[in-house]
Amino acid sequence: MSIKTPITVAYGDGIGPEIMQATLDILTAAHANIAPELIEVGEKIYREGYTSGIPDAAWDTLKRTKILLKGPITTPQGGGYKSLNVTLRKTLSLFANVRPCLTFTPYIKSHCANIDLVVVRENEEDCYAGIEHRQTEEVFQCLKLLSRPGCERIIQYAFEYARKFNRHKVSCLSKDNIMKMTDGLFHHVFNEIAEDYPDIQHEHLIVDIGTALVASNPERFDVIVTLNLYGDIISDVAAQIAGSVGLAGAANIGNQMAMFEAIHGSAPDIAGKDIANPSGLLNAAIQMLIHINQPDTAAIIENAWLTTLEDGIHTGDIYSAEHSQQKVGTRAFALAVIERLGRTPAHFKPANYQSGAYTKIECYGSRPKPRSQKTLVGVDIFIDNPKDIDGETLAASLSQLSEKLTLIIITSRGLKIWPDSTIEAPYLRHCCCRFQSTNDLSKLKPVSHHDIIQLLNAFETLGHDVIKTENLYTFDGQLGFSLAQGQ
Ligand code: NAD
Repeated sequence: MSIKTPITVAYGDGIGPEIMQATLDILTAAHANIAPELIEVGEKIYREGYTSGIPDAAWDTLKRTKILLKGPITTPQGGGYKSLNVTLRKTLSLFANVRPCLTFTPYIKSHCANIDLVVVRENEEDCYAGIEHRQTEEVFQCLKLLSRPGCERIIQYAFEYARKFNRHKVSCLSKDNIMKMTDGLFHHVFNEIAEDYPDIQHEHLIVDIGTALVASNPERFDVIVTLNLYGDIISDVAAQIAGSVGLAGAANIGNQMAMFEAIHGSAPDIAGKDIANPSGLLNAAIQMLIHINQPDTAAIIENAWLTTLEDGIHTGDIYSAEHSQQKVGTRAFALAVIERLGRTPAHFKPANYQSGAYTKIECYGSRPKPRSQKTLVGVDIFIDNPKDIDGETLAASLSQLSEKLTLIIITSRGLKIWPDSTIEAPYLRHCCCRFQSTNDLSKLKPVSHHDIIQLLNAFETLGHDVIKTENLYTFDGQLGFSLAQGQ
């Protein structure tokens, strides 16, 4: 027997301990060649004062083993600590979240018979950077940040995954009809990278109709690649219509580290009752075994699990009088899987993973590009305007403040309020005053940071409350900013 692969195990909160124990019992019975090392993360650790939800010693274990099998963690909603899951994904640079969604008809009730799709979700960027501000009494903002290397590596990962797992099509979902710069970058990079994979079909869909199609015609999808927020939603939609959120596992993959977890949360409503379905975490553990190159053990466990489903031995969340034979709890389900180790399913296609076929996919997203000429040509100055000073009056006060920078337009939440506002009742309390070196976008000239600082000093003298500035750049003459509606 070769040396056991060390893995870090975190039981997590709520139903975490029950489903993790069930999963580890099955891995042990199947002789998985692993050496689990336990760490404690989650609610208890938050309360001990570790604001990240993970103690220092646990980071050391993680960095050494490079593999984490994790139970779900309870995250406070709307306030309190930041999500440990997001912290782990970002700190360990787990850039790809991979969620296979499958149906198990006729043994498990499903809204659609033939779902076999994989959602590859970007895991580190987008609104999940967690950069949020309250800017005025009434206005809050969340920054959506995308980087070109971030887009490149997740899209490259999706195509590499499709190739390794014999998938034929990658669908990109974005909202680039509205967010032309951020989502536009994602779509653009998708088209670029697709050219490197002529053997795989590719398509782009706007995310709203794309999500509707995932719900109504999931069988038309194979691999979906999308941004963090959309991916979070779409993968739950897909898992739910496939059967139960209790069934699906997820892999969070980085070039150096990987984390495997169920897609569901800590289910506090059923914790400690021995009724939770351990299948989501077990499927995550199967992905882990493939990742650490133990494909035979992965297949033995998956086949025993499929046989258990075929035999109608189901936990409460997937039980139905029509499709099931016996309703069991968490422990009994695990025992049923263990009893079936070595058997192959009769109806479902048996899992058969080739040795070495699914070793890890490394993506660095470094498509070399010549550096563009970046030129500062203006600034957006955002002000808090609690007294509802109207556009005309504001513009009159701001018109002669700088020789280099001219007031071009004032907007509120993207809508023009000066000049020539056509809005009936404009919202005035959050104003963006756009200054450019000239009104003519084709003749923009460079300005300096000093020019902007002088302008800001003038704002302060006038008593305007500047809440944020955003520099306006051109890159090789191309505008690096969106135009306001009506500009
Ligand atoms: P949830 O997934 O925990 O529960 C949603 C519903 O599904 C509940 O009715 C629950 O009983 C049921 N359910 C979930 N897993 C099940 C299983 N294995 N077997 C049977 N039924 C199951 O979602 P929630 O209630 O929105 O979140 C609870 C907590 O989990 C929150 O603190 C949330 O932040 C956290 N959460 C953690 C993760 C993670 O650790 N990756 C993911 C999602 C939510």
